[in-house]
Amino acid sequence: MSASATASPRLSAQFELASPDLAWTNRFATLGNEFFTELRPVAVPKPSWVATSADCAALLGLREDWTEREDWQALQVFSGNALWNGMQPLASVYSGHQFGVWAGQLGDGRALWLGELNTPGGPLELQLKGSGLTPYSRMGDGRAVLRSSIREFLCSEAMHALGVPTTRALCVTASPLPVRREEVETAALVTRVAPSFIRFGHFEHFASRNQTAALRRIADFTLDNYYPECRAEAQPYAALLEAVTRRTASMVADWQALGFCHGVMNTDNMSILGLTIDYGPFGFLDGFDPGHICNHSDDQGRYAYARQPSVALWNLHALGQALLPLIGEPEAALAALDPFRSVFSQAMLARLSAKLGLHTTQEPDNRLIDDFMTLMAQDRSDFTIVFRRLASFNTDVGANNDALRDAFIDRPAFDAWARRYAERLRQEGSIDAERALRMNRVNPRFVLRNHLAEAAIAQARDGDFSEVRRLLEILRRPFDEQEENPQYAAYPPAWAQGIEVSCSS
Ligand code: AMP
Ligand code: MG
Repeated sequence: MSASATASPRLSAQFELASPDLAWTNRFATLGNEFFTELRPVAVPKPSWVATSADCAALLGLREDWTEREDWQALQVFSGNALWNGMQPLASVYSGHQFGVWAGQLGDGRALWLGELNTPGGPLELQLKGSGLTPYSRMGDGRAVLRSSIREFLCSEAMHALGVPTTRALCVTASPLPVRREEVETAALVTRVAPSFIRFGHFEHFASRNQTAALRRIADFTLDNYYPECRAEAQPYAALLEAVTRRTASMVADWQALGFCHGVMNTDNMSILGLTIDYGPFGFLDGFDPGHICNHSDDQGRYAYARQPSVALWNLHALGQALLPLIGEPEAALAALDPFRSVFSQAMLARLSAKLGLHTTQEPDNRLIDDFMTLMAQDRSDFTIVFRRLASFNTDVGANNDALRDAFIDRPAFDAWARRYAERLRQEGSIDAERALRMNRVNPRFVLRNHLAEAAIAQARDGDFSEVRRLLEILRRPFDEQEENPQYAAYPPAWAQGIEVSCSS
């Protein structure tokens, strides 16, 4: 290993390794001291690879043998035991509203920004999560446990494959280092990848302290690097708010259409790029319950499935409030937030029309869609399975559609709805086989259900990472039939209902 000779990189991160032909740019690190603290990751003992994402590695332009090159350098780097030349590790400071209450200063308490790579698809930042104490760790230990790191890794890659804007995940590494939660667990690190990790909370931080120059700096940075089209507008900061509003509305529509619950939609967990970020106690719906709360710590159900759109808008208001010193007129900020409802409802109608296999998106279809969702909610029909089965709907008069019908308890209500649906499809001359192909490209067969993650985590705790890797393979092709893997598309087992996922990660 080409590390400096003073100590083993296994024990300390005081080292820089020759970077394997990677070009780092690190624009965020040019922002200045108010925005971050530069520091190194804290090393862990005996790191090992849990899983890596070949898709994410390809995105970064890493060579196929990247995990093994130069005597396993990458393992040391992505467990926080070494750095590649050109990396500029730092923890950024932000604030935020947690569960609707102003929480003051937060920041990267266990994450470390490593640097920014120039890739064929544009610059991408890399970030370690679980890399030890930072000035923003507050009461925490700066670590992440194996369980939550596996969940974040798998869901990041799964969401990307589902077509949802998200931060990506390159790898998970594990260490036997003990980490205390409700019980003693072990440490792991996940390496996240995104064009930027800037959150709403970054803006709230400087606004709350009346640091308007710094606020302007990060807003300008965001405009110049990620929203250059807003620069041309008469009011660039209002245009930025509107662009974030539109992206966020569209992202939440993606979540709703997949039955995804984020679980902790605090403003510090909202990406300025409209990416899904900070996977914690997330969950995909099994039986459809609009009031489903996936986060065991969310007593009030603030982040219940059906509330996600309105919480997103609430969070955008917090961002608007933070940007107000730059925008000037409250009316301009409100006007920038205004498109949320129409963008969200149009996106929902488009997603759900596609899920029903309708060629056209028409306002009157809202009734047909709503009635279907109401039926699903009444019968707690499995969200993913029902939509997937809908693809095999037969529009012939008198067809029985038993496979789908079986997913409902109120059969007469289903039959009545099915007649309307068949009628609507016939109206637009829908061809069953063609429509099925289209529907199978938007209604996934595989999502990261909690019980699947739990089973992979249980094995991983015994040192067997094969199920994590297998799940990744399945979830990177969620729309494929994958006939060899029927159990991963099946109804959840009874014990899945008892799984509790909380913020403690
Ligand atoms: P989260 O709810 O996971 O988004 O975390 C909220 C804040 O707490 C963020 O600033 C995190 O960096 C911080 N945090 C969460 N867990 C830990 C931990 N184990 N050690 C240090 N900081 C943490
Ligand atoms: Mg967070």
